[in-house]
Amino acid sequence: MVRFTCLASGSKGNSSVLTGGSTRILVDAGLSCRELFRRMELAGEDPRTLDAIVITHEHSDHVHGLAVTARKLGIPVYFTRQTHKAWVDQVTPKVKLTYAAWAEARRQEKLTAEAAAESAAEAGGAGDEGLAAGVPAMAEEPEEEGCEPEKTAKRAPSDLPQVEYFAAGESFTIGDVTVSPFTIPHDAADPVGFVFSAEGVRVAVATDLGYMAPNVSMQLRGSDLILLESNHDLEMLRDGPYPWSLKQRVLSRVGHLSNDGAAEYLEQGYDGKARWLILGHLSETNNMPELARIAAERALANHARLLGNRLMLANQYEALESICF
Ligand SMILES: [Zn+2]
Ligand SMILES: [Zn+2]
Repeated sequence: MVRFTCLASGSKGNSSVLTGGSTRILVDAGLSCRELFRRMELAGEDPRTLDAIVITHEHSDHVHGLAVTARKLGIPVYFTRQTHKAWVDQVTPKVKLTYAAWAEARRQEKLTAEAAAESAAEAGGAGDEGLAAGVPAMAEEPEEEGCEPEKTAKRAPSDLPQVEYFAAGESFTIGDVTVSPFTIPHDAADPVGFVFSAEGVRVAVATDLGYMAPNVSMQLRGSDLILLESNHDLEMLRDGPYPWSLKQRVLSRVGHLSNDGAAEYLEQGYDGKARWLILGHLSETNNMPELARIAAERALANHARLLGNRLMLANQYEALESICF
């Protein structure tokens, strides 16, 4: 069975659960651990059966509950190397250093990187040696397998039970699920979207898109379910309360996809194959669900089988009904 549950989508938190065969994956952890568990249970998903967490990018609406959730469950987290580094930098408290302490930290960092490079060379580059190189010298303790939540007080905020790296454009498997990450245009270190395949079903997650880049459109082909960003209404954004600089950011080629942007894709790029389309990452300030829906429905006029209950709108406050294949 393949099953997809969108637990939350929007600037206050993004997270979904994808089940394929006997494997269960959390896609982003943008809610607190407690809230993630609560929504999963309400949706009939047992959090303790999660096998892994995969991360699209390091923005807080995608990683807010990451460390606590991963530690509590003792499961691996999959990032690109750059996203992991950006996340570590983000959660590591900044300390002011004297010059001598800074120089010593750099020396240690160099030694750690050299040692990691050597052990990586010895081990043939397998495993997660990259973790040691990616973590700044400040990290207090080496990573441990199977952490217990009680120990978290002593841990660095970036400590995770296990880190696995992937690269955009290179598929990998987690249990019964093949995960295909692809680059998305967005202002993060190395942001990706995902296509998950299991039992012949393809589920795509594509939010946080400055625009519908050709490679993204290609990846979405043949998907049975697409979670697609429909972030803002252009007029609401233009006339809304955001400061000019933030409006520019949202509108930029590395910002967010508008209702019109999503509609243009649905009209011109979309292959009409999906059984389900979920519009997500709707802005609360610069959009209204009805505007997003109308824009998509208009664009889908030629793909009538997607109308009606097959078009869903995700939100930040509650999980959507699970979709099963
Ligand atoms: Zn983002
Ligand atoms: Zn986001």
